[in-house]
Amino acid sequence: MDLKDLIRDVKDFPIEGIVFKDITTLLKNPEGFNETLDNLYNISKDKGITKVVGIESRGFIFGGALASKLNAGFVPIRKPGKLPAETVEEEYELEYGTDKMEIHKDAIEPGDKILLHDDLLATGGTMKAACNLVEKLGGKIVQISFVIDLTFLNGKDLLKGYEIHSLIEY
Ligand code: AMP
Repeated sequence: MDLKDLIRDVKDFPIEGIVFKDITTLLKNPEGFNETLDNLYNISKDKGITKVVGIESRGFIFGGALASKLNAGFVPIRKPGKLPAETVEEEYELEYGTDKMEIHKDAIEPGDKILLHDDLLATGGTMKAACNLVEKLGGKIVQISFVIDLTFLNGKDLLKGYEIHSLIEY
């Protein structure tokens, strides 16, 4: 199965000029969902991952399932004001605007071996901010994985020094 065939392009979403890579068409397909999860799992098994950190909101879908398969904990990074306990915060740039993200202060123990996961790498700003949050809390970033890499935006340049994996490239 070519997973690329299950991803839908939505033109001019959320603003004009952006071609949005819609993974809901992949998620609703049972074989597509499982093949994506298995491929992500194969990248990260045997790495001693203790926690998977997923980025709101599409990073929660495979991130949570992966954590279960890896026998690791799951930690959400969320938009401001969503997490109830004490947080640390980081500002970041999107392909289409700027935003902030938060993580619970007690979500990561120093020395935790972290897999960071999101659905898509564009400019890399979101993942870079997530890396900063994890490292502020003493986590060791072992791997970063994405379902999709928009390689023409060179997001990997912002994430130099980390082990980065993606399943589908454009
Ligand atoms: P960036 O910080 O530029 O790497 O943007 C990555 C984040 O924005 C991820 O959480 C993606 O879900 C979302 N994103 C950015 N561009 C797109 C796109 N063209 N299609 C779908 N999601 C996108």
